[in-house]
Amino acid sequence: MESIYNPLKLSVYRPLFREKKVLIIGSGAVGSYAAENIAKMGASVCLVDFDSFTLENAAKHSGVVRTPEDVGRYKAICVAERIRPLLEEGCVSHGVAADLCMLGPEVIASYDGVILCVDNYAAKALFNDLYMSIPEERRPIVIMDGTHEEMAQSVILDGKEFCLRCLLDEKWLENGAARTSCSGAQIREIDGVQEIIRTSGLASSIAANLSAEQFRAAVIGADQVMNRRVTYTAYPHFELSVSRPMPKKNCPGCHIKPPKEIRKLTGSVFDVTLGEALNQISESLETRDFEIAVHSLFYKNVMYAGFILEDVCHACGKPITVMRHEGRTFLEDLRCEDCIREKKHARRDVDFPPGRIEYALTEKSDPRLMSMKLFELGYPLGAHIRVIQRNGAFDFLDMDRITTTVFTCTDDPAQFYNVEHLR
Ligand SMILES: [Zn+2]
Ligand SMILES: [Zn+2]
Repeated sequence: MESIYNPLKLSVYRPLFREKKVLIIGSGAVGSYAAENIAKMGASVCLVDFDSFTLENAAKHSGVVRTPEDVGRYKAICVAERIRPLLEEGCVSHGVAADLCMLGPEVIASYDGVILCVDNYAAKALFNDLYMSIPEERRPIVIMDGTHEEMAQSVILDGKEFCLRCLLDEKWLENGAARTSCSGAQIREIDGVQEIIRTSGLASSIAANLSAEQFRAAVIGADQVMNRRVTYTAYPHFELSVSRPMPKKNCPGCHIKPPKEIRKLTGSVFDVTLGEALNQISESLETRDFEIAVHSLFYKNVMYAGFILEDVCHACGKPITVMRHEGRTFLEDLRCEDCIREKKHARRDVDFPPGRIEYALTEKSDPRLMSMKLFELGYPLGAHIRVIQRNGAFDFLDMDRITTTVFTCTDDPAQFYNVEHLR
């Protein structure tokens, strides 16, 4: 893309931004403004958001989003397209309609900066888990912003002094998804309707401006920028203030230890099958005595770590083939074709017998799994894939003998640019 700007009318430090890649998570009220700011600063922008634009929030979005033409479009794809004419020469913008659960640590690690513009605590906590799983020296800077009524805030961190979870009240994170059954699969609840948070478009755009300013200052290397929170308070108590957040005692986020070593698998989770992964891992470990842990997704205080092969229709009770990861399965997914056609809903009030669930994958796993791609088996793009060697240990009492090696697919960060939807 050729730039439309006259460089003489722009800041002298602008070339510092040309090589920078920024990932913006959330492309709504704050994210659309943040994307506009970063693109105009002269950096590349990627966006992730599963949602689409609605008319009722039109007064909160950046003017790059057109009203009413863009109503109904996926936010991330739409904003990436709308900012494209504003990009600096050589820069790119790309949007992916996806839930954050579809991304792993290695995609996040491939950016220079991440701006987290989401308003729910579960997504912030999940992002923090991914972020803290990245070895410290490869962590990008993270900027997290938010609004409350007319107030706006933004915090920037390098992942060395405190984590994002240090900034969240643990009480906000307590409402884990209710289990629908005492046995069987963990079925992820569809994220509930958020309570309406009243905030203005002005507060959203100021939050995005604060984030952009923190990013700008970090890139030009200004002093006392990192690990600070900036807060804007509207009239009648107008103020702009800077504070230094403190690490939280016993923070579960700070306890996450990134793997010491990450080995490479050739290809990406989109094209490597389980069979191929088993071969590549066996070559790397020089043994066939290992198992690959099914991806574990910790979301809203619930761990989803199983792959469901078979279950029963949760409407009529008939056996069905599922072949989905627990964390990507919702209750209505557990229905037979007849019940889907007849629009019968899955029932919460019945305790169905447990299905067939795998927690580890080996060469002895169900043959149908061998030709499935790692992504279809539940591994996100950029996942850390945990491989466990028991070395003769019988159970976890024998922990000392069990070793874990982490693998990742080398093509995953690049593949992010080849998709527009992840589901
Ligand atoms: Zn922490
Ligand atoms: Zn049925």
